[in-house]
Amino acid sequence: MRYDVIVVGGGLVGATLAVAVGAMGLRVAVVERSGVPAAAPGPVYGARVSALTVASERILRALGVWSSIPAERIGPMREMHVWERTGEVHFDSAEIGEPVLGHIIENQAVQWAVERRIEALPNIEWCRAEELTELAIGDGEAQARLGARHLRAPLVVGADGASSRVRELAGIEVSEGGYDQEAVVAEVRTALPHRETAWQRFLPTGPLAFLPLSNGHSSIVWSTTPGHAAELCALDAAEFGLEVADAFEWTLGAVTARSAGVSFALRHLHARTYVCDRVALAGDAAHIVHPLAGQGVNLGLLDAAALSEVIGRAHGLGRDIGTRATLRRYERWRRGHNALMQAVLGGFRHVFSNPSAAVRLLRQSGFALTDRLPPLKAGFMRFASGFSGDLPALARGAPGERGS
Ligand SMILES: Cc1cc2nc3c(=O)[nH]c(=O)nc-3n(C[C@H](O)[C@H](O)[C@H](O)COP(=O)(O)OP(=O)(O)OC[C@H]3O[C@@H](n4cnc5c(N)ncnc54)[C@H](O)[C@@H]3O)c2cc1C
Repeated sequence: MRYDVIVVGGGLVGATLAVAVGAMGLRVAVVERSGVPAAAPGPVYGARVSALTVASERILRALGVWSSIPAERIGPMREMHVWERTGEVHFDSAEIGEPVLGHIIENQAVQWAVERRIEALPNIEWCRAEELTELAIGDGEAQARLGARHLRAPLVVGADGASSRVRELAGIEVSEGGYDQEAVVAEVRTALPHRETAWQRFLPTGPLAFLPLSNGHSSIVWSTTPGHAAELCALDAAEFGLEVADAFEWTLGAVTARSAGVSFALRHLHARTYVCDRVALAGDAAHIVHPLAGQGVNLGLLDAAALSEVIGRAHGLGRDIGTRATLRRYERWRRGHNALMQAVLGGFRHVFSNPSAAVRLLRQSGFALTDRLPPLKAGFMRFASGFSGDLPALARGAPGERGS
């Protein structure tokens, strides 16, 4: 079968890219290892949630996805409070004239909404329960082998996550490393209301965040040592609640676990190049960042928006969309931005986990400066909301929030 674009990986980034390219009328195949479509959000909240920036909201709105996310599952994040021993800083979206800094939503609810949009586009075909096994780059097209089937297209996009097979088959190297940390996630109920605020305390072993869910509960992300993560996940619900409340200095009062803790190993990765002839990488296949600022999928959605724009422009001009020369525009656009985010998050992590007196002093002055200097604070908020850098048209809310 011949397509215009083959997207390998139908997670949040790959599926969103498929919608963006499919909406231009191109024929798209989405190859997804999992055979199970996303389930509609039920009464129990999914364990994995993401803080989606305003830029991500705009992309999903412009693609007609946002309106399918059940409104009652969208938890507004209007404020953010960050603290540790040496100081604290409070961010309020009103200070930058925005109603929110972002939204906390279950990944499953967003995935379900993207898949609804794909169903409405007849030129996008799901190849579910199929896996990319081989990739051949020929003259003018790439051939993707899925077991006994062959798909052909001028462009294959690897949106197949951290262990990307596309990246491996294309021979793209990465720089990577571990943090010697795991993130424990769980849904909890707190005695005091979260006040639509994301709370984050930096501990010497890593940050503990409470993200405000739309049902009044919070989703916690506790990055800590692997040994401590294993201990936390082995606790019963009552002990877990106590441990979390204690580490959080009882800021939101008593904590009751609503789900068992689940842990994820954390690492960082950056592909040395995002493109080669007939291949482009997007999302976690290209970069993995620490979850402390909730940026991973947001960066991936910006990749999807930028790549679709580059593809659309080349297609509109009648050019080959899969040449390295065309794809280099995408790489130049996104790689530097993602590298900057990785450096900033790496710096934060380093500064907050360093016990030396000099670094403690630096943290103290950093908190005081950020809290007292409105332009610096506004800059942080704009960066965290996804407003920094050269935004793709979809993330600027153009064209006209269509489809919402
Ligand atoms: C604890 C934690 C908290 C986080 N919180 C946030 C947050 O608040 N905000 C945020 O922006 N980010 C957050 N992230 C990061 C975010 O979850 C990821 O960046 C995001 O899920 C990556 O999406 P993706 O579509 O690129 O990859 P994935 O979600 O990994 O999707 C890849 C898809 O490809 C499929 N696949 C893989 N290999 C193949 C193959 N060979 N053939 C076919 N299909 C294949 C997989 O089945 C999967 O569906 C967090 C991460 C962690 C660990």
